[in-house]
Amino acid sequence: MEKIVLSGLNLAEIEKITEELNASKFRARQIHNWIYLKSVSTIDEMTDLSKSFRDELKAVADVTNVKIKTKQISSDGTLKYLLEYPDGECVETVLMRFDNRANLTACVSSQVGCAVNCSFCATGKRGFIRNLTYKEILEQVLTIQRDTGLKVTNIVFMGQGEPLLNLDNVLKAMEIFNDCFQIGARRITVSTSGIIPGIERLANIEMQSTLALSLHAPNHETRAKLMPIENRYNINDLHTALKKYIEKTGRRITIEYLLIKDLNDTLDSVKQLAHYLKDIKCNINLIPYNPTAKNDYQKPSNNSIMRFKALMEQTGKKVTVRLERGADIDAACGQLHGRVTQEGAK
Ligand code: SAH
Ligand code: SF4
Repeated sequence: MEKIVLSGLNLAEIEKITEELNASKFRARQIHNWIYLKSVSTIDEMTDLSKSFRDELKAVADVTNVKIKTKQISSDGTLKYLLEYPDGECVETVLMRFDNRANLTACVSSQVGCAVNCSFCATGKRGFIRNLTYKEILEQVLTIQRDTGLKVTNIVFMGQGEPLLNLDNVLKAMEIFNDCFQIGARRITVSTSGIIPGIERLANIEMQSTLALSLHAPNHETRAKLMPIENRYNINDLHTALKKYIEKTGRRITIEYLLIKDLNDTLDSVKQLAHYLKDIKCNINLIPYNPTAKNDYQKPSNNSIMRFKALMEQTGKKVTVRLERGADIDAACGQLHGRVTQEGAK
């Protein structure tokens, strides 16, 4: 008989197992805490359970069925894991530590590969393989916690995949991040390439998470060059969807804007972007392009990035430049491809 995997189960589901083993509900609560708050890797580490109960539990269950295939450490402290699920598919997940050590941000994947195929992104080049289940999403954070012994405090859905094309699993994972991991929804950000039906669905959900939109261009022509999805959900319809989302939720959104030299970092682009965003309640996050092998885009100079930032700030919006994290291990935005690199683990 295949063993039950405990990671990803909620309290009621664990209670069912303890009930079948004729143990009290309190045991279920203990197991739940060991999994989500103390992040153990084995049942033997659940030391407040009796040895005989642990043996009974071990006969029917395992903590996890996910393997760490490779782990890389960047000079800036960023960790990148390549995880393997039982069917052999792999995804990457990244842990970023910022100067403020209290914040540990996990950048999680929502799909193996991605169908959206943006021209600047390594994940897109791989095409779509499959959706991740909510348990497979949760396992990414659990693996980080088990391996580092640290507690993740923030989640960004900015790894591989388009979260709004796997929204059922993403929402279920968010609910468990909230309930079991005790990570508040305000500390969870979902980044999308602009899947309008998904944005509409998120607008009607109570959860206080942050929506980030990968806009990347201020007009239809440039956006269509970068993101084929523009031909399905265009920038004007997106504007309407964003306004409705903000009206409905009252929440400020994040606009992600990739900066590519001479393509969308010009003075004209700033003007058009300012106009497009003038009635959108948002913060702007500028992302200097990270080189990926298969195109000839270039990163703008630091001067050009700072000029773009200063001009956008004149519109009264908060503008940040995303720090490049983990570029030396291909862990920066857009560099995740879900394969073992030629040199393997560094
Ligand atoms: N699919 C979602 C979330 C994953 S990508 C989305 O596209 O929003 C997370 C962020 O990394 C997105 O803003 C994406 O556009 C950006 N990104 C992709 N490739 C990049 C690259 N080569 N350099 C910098 N950012 C990149
Ligand atoms: Fe998919 Fe996002 Fe990469 Fe575009 S940027 S291909 S939506 S993962």
